[in-house]
Amino acid sequence: MKEIKFRLFGNILGGEMHVAEVNVNGEVITPNYSLNDSLLTVPLKNPLQPKDTITLSMDFELEVPQSVELNYGVQAYYDDVLALAHAYPMIAVYDDEGWNAEIPPQSGDVTYADMSFFIVTVEAPKGVTLVGSGREINHNESGNRQTVRYEAGPVRDFYLAASPEYEVFTKEVDGVTLRFYTRDYLQAGAESALDVAARAIEVYGKRYAPYPYTELDFVSTPTYALGIEYPGMIAITEWIVEPDQFYLEGTVAHEVGHQWFYNLVGNDQLDDPWLDESLTQFATLQYFTDTYGQSGSAGFRQDLEGRWNSIGQEEIPVGLPVKEYSNEEYSGIVYGRGGLFFEALREEMGEENFDVFIKNYVKNNAWDIATPEKLQTAAEAQCGCNLTPIFEKWIFP
Ligand SMILES: [Zn+2]
Repeated sequence: MKEIKFRLFGNILGGEMHVAEVNVNGEVITPNYSLNDSLLTVPLKNPLQPKDTITLSMDFELEVPQSVELNYGVQAYYDDVLALAHAYPMIAVYDDEGWNAEIPPQSGDVTYADMSFFIVTVEAPKGVTLVGSGREINHNESGNRQTVRYEAGPVRDFYLAASPEYEVFTKEVDGVTLRFYTRDYLQAGAESALDVAARAIEVYGKRYAPYPYTELDFVSTPTYALGIEYPGMIAITEWIVEPDQFYLEGTVAHEVGHQWFYNLVGNDQLDDPWLDESLTQFATLQYFTDTYGQSGSAGFRQDLEGRWNSIGQEEIPVGLPVKEYSNEEYSGIVYGRGGLFFEALREEMGEENFDVFIKNYVKNNAWDIATPEKLQTAAEAQCGCNLTPIFEKWIFP
């Protein structure tokens, strides 16, 4: 490997990110910038061989936008909440396509990442509640400052949220501590979100694999999305935590599902968004079925159908990259038709085979990156049947 590529998402999410002192094995290197300064390429004097290691260091500075207009406001300081998504130089994924780097479309997720371990030390004013990925290992206060150390991993990303307004509400399930950080007056919504999350962890734990961490943290933020998934963390937009919000249960069940499909089993979220989004929509349907019975899942199935209906049930393939869809198609196909595909696949394979296949798919791709081909192969291996016709009808162009 003659170079290493880093994503500087701060430069395309409305703020500015500056890098200095890029250092490889103790030697200062001059990097190159491209893709509107969102891609940093570090050339290596001596190519990195397989199984070999290097030490790479750099300083970086990020100025965060004070608005939530770009990419759902994942990286913003707004309304007393600091949301720091992808706020450090992230190593791009090198796969059979080579380095994966492009300017992500506004409608989808921005990252595609491998698993990593993180040790993060945060220094902040004492009056601010900090919520970070992984576990809080150390917490010191001195004067009006606090220093917190987090350790996380394996995870695909490190996320940090902070607010002087955050109160915390807690629940335990199956050895997992669930916490919801939000404003005091949203206690009722936060607690019902935690009930949903606890049931979702039980449902997905039985159906796919045990939840892989000991903690799951929720934060309310002013994001334009209903919810956004991070490893072991979930951001929920504040307005749906208000009393009697129809969207809360489906959103929480969906975002918890991403802990299996996106984090535990990774995928290229820009090229194959259906592998995490459509499958997570189907997982959400299973959450409603397992919690309330067939009739209880009718509402969510209608949601899937309604999305597809809203683009006239057009048979656009589910397996396209985010950039190939218009916003309406992305919702209708990837979030609507894609969820229904997995029901059709279950019908085709038989329920017993389907349940075993999903478990095997998760087990065989856990901590790794899945592909559409791996998913189809795992399904065919289980049913001993040829599924190309159904994949061609629904997924592949
Ligand atoms: Zn999603």
